[in-house]
Amino acid sequence: MPELPEVECTRRGLAPWLESRHIRALVVRNRRLRWLIPRGLEERLAGTQVTALERRGKYLLMRTRAGTALMHLGMSGRMRVLTADTAPDRHDHFDLLLETVKTDPKSVAGSDICIRFTDPRRFGCLLWAGHDPQTHRLLRDLGPEPLLDEFSGEYLWRKARGRTVAIKLFVMNAAVVVGVGNIYASEALFRARIDPRRATGRISRRDMDELAAAVRAVLGEAIIAGGTTLRDFYNGAGEPGYFGRHLCVYDRADQPCRCCGTPVRHIVQGQRSTYFCPGCQR
Ligand SMILES: [Zn+2]
Repeated sequence: MPELPEVECTRRGLAPWLESRHIRALVVRNRRLRWLIPRGLEERLAGTQVTALERRGKYLLMRTRAGTALMHLGMSGRMRVLTADTAPDRHDHFDLLLETVKTDPKSVAGSDICIRFTDPRRFGCLLWAGHDPQTHRLLRDLGPEPLLDEFSGEYLWRKARGRTVAIKLFVMNAAVVVGVGNIYASEALFRARIDPRRATGRISRRDMDELAAAVRAVLGEAIIAGGTTLRDFYNGAGEPGYFGRHLCVYDRADQPCRCCGTPVRHIVQGQRSTYFCPGCQR
């Protein structure tokens, strides 16, 4: 499943192909994604200019002069940059056709650019969020971005007062902070040396500082690692995936901790796998 780093890498890969270009057309082949692609979106987008491609949590926000379209990759979605004459496949649900510009590579000259959304499981979405996307129902209750200053140990500590939920479930809650998926939560708690089962409200301010720093570090490193796969975004792969990520505990049950040698433990919390080192994490 694409996590925040993959979505951010997708954003960085697509931005140069979208920003400041005019949309020739939106071509929808299948409206039935997680939610229906709204009827009339084709008319809204045709001819308008894209001003920016932004990210909020795991949503991509395509800002245009007509308003903002909201996209999500769901469980299995990806977006690739192709030329418009590339034949679609059965899981290719929509295309955004864009004008070419002078600086495009020779291989695309003369053809429209096609940003193609492929999603076998159809949990992704393409919705319209108008001129004030932050108030859209999917975005308005989201917690802060983990890579921005609004997210800190102090913020976590304040938010945690009186909460008895296990810390791992707390950091994975998008209303607390967005984009900390299952893998990153296990890895960040390992780096911060915090037992994932601990009651959130009893964790010290100092440990929350460690945790906030660890969340930023694991997400930041995954984004940097993913950046190396972006060279070929055009005609590409469009699939940043789980690029050569160095995992300390995730999916390493019973293997020795890289730090102290204690076997890594696997437990289930909130129906999700958690991995931790009983030697390092307290
Ligand atoms: Zn250890």
